Amino acid sequence: MYGSYGEYLRSELEEIRSQGLYKSERIIESPQGAEVVVGGRKILNFCANNYLGLASDPRVIEAARQTLDQWGYGLSSVRFICGTTSLHKRLEEELSDFLGTEDTILYAACFDANGGVFEPFMSEDTAIITDQLNHASIIDGVRLAKARRAIYEHGDMEKLEAALELHADARLRLVVTDGVFSMDGDYAKLDEICDLAEKHDAMVMVDESHATGFTGPTGRGTHERCGVMGRVDVITTTLGKALGGALGGCTSGRREMIEWLRQKSRPYLFSNSIPPMICGASLEVLRILREDTGPLDRLRENERRLRSGLRELGFDVNPGEHPIVPVHFRKHEYDAKLAQAMSADLLEEGIYCIGFSFPVVPRGQARIRLQVSAAHTPAHVDRCLEAFATVGRRHGITA
Ligand SMILES: *Cc1c(COP(=O)(O)O)cnc(C)c1O
Repeated sequence: MYGSYGEYLRSELEEIRSQGLYKSERIIESPQGAEVVVGGRKILNFCANNYLGLASDPRVIEAARQTLDQWGYGLSSVRFICGTTSLHKRLEEELSDFLGTEDTILYAACFDANGGVFEPFMSEDTAIITDQLNHASIIDGVRLAKARRAIYEHGDMEKLEAALELHADARLRLVVTDGVFSMDGDYAKLDEICDLAEKHDAMVMVDESHATGFTGPTGRGTHERCGVMGRVDVITTTLGKALGGALGGCTSGRREMIEWLRQKSRPYLFSNSIPPMICGASLEVLRILREDTGPLDRLRENERRLRSGLRELGFDVNPGEHPIVPVHFRKHEYDAKLAQAMSADLLEEGIYCIGFSFPVVPRGQARIRLQVSAAHTPAHVDRCLEAFATVGRRHGITA
């Protein structure tokens, strides 16, 4: 039977290739960092989620190595059988402390945290109210729950309130949002969302994957930035971005909710414990965040340098305060082609960044998304700016 199915898949693959939707993977031949080796050539990386530069921080590597020696490689068990070590419990406590929550439950990834957070609470007589641009893992998690669903237009507080009113008869209403949306680096209006939720007696959940560790005055996240620590009921986040970038995620929040998830959440109950080495390294990451403001300070300085430099060159960059810095081509007719051509030329100039166009972002909103890191030096940022100046001139965007 496979013969004809293979034929079918080959033609479907050809189809997405011809539409320019095929995702090819660049192969990196070095550790993750500000500079990476691709095809034997050193290039500057401006598309990693390695915001604090901790993915190859010697302190984090050493903590992972020591934990590996002391605790072994893997646990070969789910948490509730024999997969919980004292390291897992310590990491959960320290994550709660960092996020300002009551308790935390670890998952193999934030994708799993989001996949397992709705179904245990949200039955037919409840409603999930979700931002249109929320992450794929939230969308999938919501699909697994039997709750009613309401999707509000991105960041539209009037539409959110209308949905809260429409579902006023639900036993429970949960408002769900990304803390930071990854295509623009824009923030959820968490203070307004918490006000609305309180007014309408609903709960709030925030996915902080693009925020934990580096947004807000001390890097706690969007809830710190918006002054609503303690008012958000559920936070999900990842260990796979700013917090070292390996793998792992968690759900953090109200004590009884976390306890309920340990009893009911399927990706937790039926999937392996995260390896001790990641717990040990993550504990070191949290120690660094508490004691060393260096990475956060460098990140903020680099971000300011990149954003203002691009603007001085005449590029269309949103105002904002996040290491995701999208460069738009809204004034140009063939914006998608331009974004692709520019990112290819930038790679030639030694700058690794990605152009996004429809259907990843809405039509007419193609962009190059840059992500800056504490691992970059000011000279790295300047090289990126020089490359943008050169390539921008070539494409008639800058003078
Ligand atoms: C990256 C990301 C995830 C997935 O995190 P993993 O730990 O890699 O599974 C979930 N939600 C958001 C908003 C993300 O950006």
